[in-house]
Amino acid sequence: MDNVLSDVYDDRVVIPDAQMNLFGLEPKDIIARQPAVPGVFFDAPDIELDYDIAVICMSGGKDSLAALKYLLDRGFPASRIELWHHLVDGLEAADSFMDWPFIDDYCVKLAEALDMPLYRSWLKHGFKGEMLKHNSRSHPHLVGTPDGVVELPRNAAKEATRLRFPQQAASLQTRWCSSALKIDVGRRALTCQERFIDKKVLFVTGERRQESSNRAKYNQLEPHSTDTVRKSARPLKPRHVDAWRPVLHLSEEEVWEMLCDWRINPPVPYRLGWGRSSCQTCIFNGDRIWATIAHYWPERVQEIAQYEEQFGTAISRNGKTVVERARLAEPLKIDDEQALRQASRHDYELPIFVPEGQSWTLPAGAFSGVSAGAS
Ligand code: SF4
Repeated sequence: MDNVLSDVYDDRVVIPDAQMNLFGLEPKDIIARQPAVPGVFFDAPDIELDYDIAVICMSGGKDSLAALKYLLDRGFPASRIELWHHLVDGLEAADSFMDWPFIDDYCVKLAEALDMPLYRSWLKHGFKGEMLKHNSRSHPHLVGTPDGVVELPRNAAKEATRLRFPQQAASLQTRWCSSALKIDVGRRALTCQERFIDKKVLFVTGERRQESSNRAKYNQLEPHSTDTVRKSARPLKPRHVDAWRPVLHLSEEEVWEMLCDWRINPPVPYRLGWGRSSCQTCIFNGDRIWATIAHYWPERVQEIAQYEEQFGTAISRNGKTVVERARLAEPLKIDDEQALRQASRHDYELPIFVPEGQSWTLPAGAFSGVSAGAS
């Protein structure tokens, strides 16, 4: 624990407990120490890790890697950790529409290197299938489990039409990709599996407050939406699930330090100059990233622009298509040939950890401030 963290810990935990002992009180006797809403903590950088299972939502970006390392550094047994990866494009189409082609295989190879199980789940037909919904129901969810992939129908869903990209907004209703392709899928993966019943589950995600004013307001620890034990006195399916954001309080510098100490190779998008590793064609990309994609992977930009024209609604609020935005900026100059080759491939072929005898290098995208990825 660094000095700032240990001071916070002393102020909130050690000193109050010591003062209570002076008066012969136990922590449970002090009502004021309880959070306003049970189980909800705005700051919770260190918690008691008495969980049966920790699910790490692994996007393949630096912050989810740091969240995993944070847990391991605090002694949580690796044997009780599982990695979950939500496939934004689904698995049905041969080519990527939004995500990096290699990101799925990167997560597979990462899990192999760490000797941890990886479960993939997705909305059938992914981002494009949801975007093209036209007077029709949402597709089923597919959930990876220890017994194989389970298909879960959406019988309660109403027929609806999207025919537009998610809009750049904090609201998950208009920025529907995060909710439809990640949050809902993760929720369903928890509720459809009996193995989580009567278990204490820690659901870990890698957001950081420094990333945006929206994330700055997030709680660090709270009951997950699938938790039943705090919703009902006698739940039919008792399931204790806490959502924890262990790196919420960390700076970008602290995250890179963790990855350097771990000697994990910086993920490819940062090596290319991206400031974040989200979808390659994320709706939050800035003009410079669109210019870079148009330069190196023009077919990706063209496909998105064609849909913008077909829908009559651009991703950008200013109405410019991604092709028009790409013309407004200079592309990034990518010197990392290895990363550039990897960026177009489906199979991930680079080492997960920096090999013995080689030094760890801060990637071009670190601290770049280049606008890429979700906020
Ligand atoms: S990374 Fe961007 S495009 Fe992909 S799901 Fe998140 S907000 Fe949507």
